[in-house]
Amino acid sequence: MFLKSIHLRQFRNYQDQKVEFTAAKTILVGNNAQGKSNLLEAVELLATLRSHRMARDRDLVQEGEAIAQINASLERKSSISDLTLTLRRNGRRTVALNSEIVRRQMDFLGVLNAVEFSSLDLDLVRGGPEGRRSWLDTLLIQLEPVYAHILQQYNQVLRQRNAFLKQTQDSALSSQQSEQLAVWDAQLATNGTRVIRRRERALQRLAPIATNWHASISGSTEELQIKYAPNVPLGENYPQEVQQAFLEKIQQRAIAELRQGTTLVGPHRDEVELIINQTPARQYGSQGQQRTLVLALKLAELQLIEEVVGEPPLLLLDDVLAELDLYRQNQLLDTIQDRFQTIITTTHLGSFDSQWLNSSQILLVKAGE
Ligand code: ATP
Ligand code: MG
Repeated sequence: MFLKSIHLRQFRNYQDQKVEFTAAKTILVGNNAQGKSNLLEAVELLATLRSHRMARDRDLVQEGEAIAQINASLERKSSISDLTLTLRRNGRRTVALNSEIVRRQMDFLGVLNAVEFSSLDLDLVRGGPEGRRSWLDTLLIQLEPVYAHILQQYNQVLRQRNAFLKQTQDSALSSQQSEQLAVWDAQLATNGTRVIRRRERALQRLAPIATNWHASISGSTEELQIKYAPNVPLGENYPQEVQQAFLEKIQQRAIAELRQGTTLVGPHRDEVELIINQTPARQYGSQGQQRTLVLALKLAELQLIEEVVGEPPLLLLDDVLAELDLYRQNQLLDTIQDRFQTIITTTHLGSFDSQWLNSSQILLVKAGE
């Protein structure tokens, strides 16, 4: 797929700026705080309706304005799509496809696919499990957009069940309350099992690809394993067996849940384990080795999305090239070639060789223009 143009209105520090992409590779060059990452963030929002930086909509809308709009034209194998995301300071969003408002997010997701790689991604290795869950969820949303809906439903039940547990915390439940809780339990297990099933399936497909990339980048001296460590035990038979295990675990943790006033069982407590040479990657190795791991994950994401979607996704590289050594830079650049449309930010062009510079579109970003 090829992003032909993007138009930003009152988005972050962009007042009204249209950008045409004219080459497979675009380099956005500029000093700090000029709007390079903001532009990538806009593309990412169209792809996933999420922001890497976990920004709230009121941070995305330009200061002093009520509304922001991101509009883009995307060429795919058999169609050209016009995507529009309207953001409001109050958090209400509207999405439109070819100028028609789309009601369900899942019908908008999956039109544009993109993988972003920024220095924030190092948190995938170093940070807590929440970041890894969020990474996996963002990938899944692109692999099967219906997942956005599944996750939303699970989170909604989780919120309601948590509110209920909080409200009844430390008190004995009346029989009516017990019945109410049993209803939440069943819904949590049903919706949670859908999440678990898709996370397991996605990791099963991603892991061997990432392991291959990792071996190739690190020179195959190190062995990467990616393991899904679900909070609820997996089973062979979906959904019955997993739902059953889910409900049993809720039973086991019932007293603790009532005491703590929160839901302790379910995929919101899942972990994705990244292991190098039998050691958790977080504890293992240098920053360089951790970067290698993240690079392998990102290349695997690109490849998996391409396999599943049938078209190469965009690659958004935010300031990461300079952080990789020459060998890893070349691995990445060789992989990209012209296979993936790539938008790269940098503060200086010095880290690119002349062949790259000659074949890239170079845009200078200055104060939101
Ligand atoms: P760096 O090289 O440091 O990463 P960058 O070019 O990637 O810089 P961005 O993060 O894209 O910088 O842009 C940051 C600029 O955008 C800052 O000047 C910030 O004040 C401005 N900015 C962010 N949000 C808004 C907003 N809602 N309204 C107006 N300006 C904003
Ligand atoms: Mg930046």
